[in-house]
Amino acid sequence: MGKTYVGIDVGTTKIDGVLVDARGNVYCSRSIPTRAGADCVIEDIVSVVRFLIARSQNSDIDLIGVGIPGQVDSRRGIIRDVVNLNITELELEKQLRSQLNLDIHVENDVNAAAMGATIVSESTVPEDQTIAFMNFGSGLSAGVIRNGRILHGSTGSLGEIGHIPVDPNRFLCACGQRGCLETVASGGAIARLWQTDNPATMQNLIYAAQCGEKDAREILTMVIHAMVDAIQITAQAYDPAKILIGGGLAKAGQPLRRLIVAELSRRATSSHFLTTLDIPSRLTLISPDVPVGAIGAGIAAILAK
Ligand SMILES: [Zn+2]
Repeated sequence: MGKTYVGIDVGTTKIDGVLVDARGNVYCSRSIPTRAGADCVIEDIVSVVRFLIARSQNSDIDLIGVGIPGQVDSRRGIIRDVVNLNITELELEKQLRSQLNLDIHVENDVNAAAMGATIVSESTVPEDQTIAFMNFGSGLSAGVIRNGRILHGSTGSLGEIGHIPVDPNRFLCACGQRGCLETVASGGAIARLWQTDNPATMQNLIYAAQCGEKDAREILTMVIHAMVDAIQITAQAYDPAKILIGGGLAKAGQPLRRLIVAELSRRATSSHFLTTLDIPSRLTLISPDVPVGAIGAGIAAILAK
């Protein structure tokens, strides 16, 4: 084992932690349920970090990367408006450093996952390419890696594609707009749209549609259309060499990929422009079982220092 780092991914249901090296190899992991509130979040991160350090064979761990939802000011280590964790504003880097006495780097969770998905799928972080990661989870957002760095934009909201309104007559979004992409292209949308006794997962939706259930077929068509809209927006706005599809919906695997590719191909039959973009060849599904958020938080910390 070479030099290792700790990567932490604070999700709304669980906190994942990994002991990771600079190539993304994971040596040890730990997962605990998330508790809301600033004090609990800090206490739980500290406990996961201490658990992992205690199991490290090397005692030279000096850098911790943390990915967390909400508005993250990575340079100052401050997080704001983490609604699901009941945090309005928190100097996370400062608080963790005072308890752990280690260097801390804080990153938005989807940006960290973009870094993690990149190193997991490419086995390196390419210095000369753009790679986009799309997180189709309870909501929808993207992270973009360009020339080995996370793109943050001027306000830190780069990649918030879930809140691009595409249809003003459609569903009201939690952000206050109407017709945002994530009101259809997300796990949260499937759970809201599909009334079923089974868990409203993408796998079950695809299965029910294939079994001929009318509701499931209609909802699946809507969701796939919106997912492909989001993929096209990402492809055309950032022109990435790879588009990595992650989040809970990616659990549906190859059947989902086939539906996405079929819709892209259908659109391309009438568009030479879209054909030339060859988006299907750039798509890779990332298994949600791989802790890309925690891995990427560690890698992002290394690259930021
Ligand atoms: Zn919205």
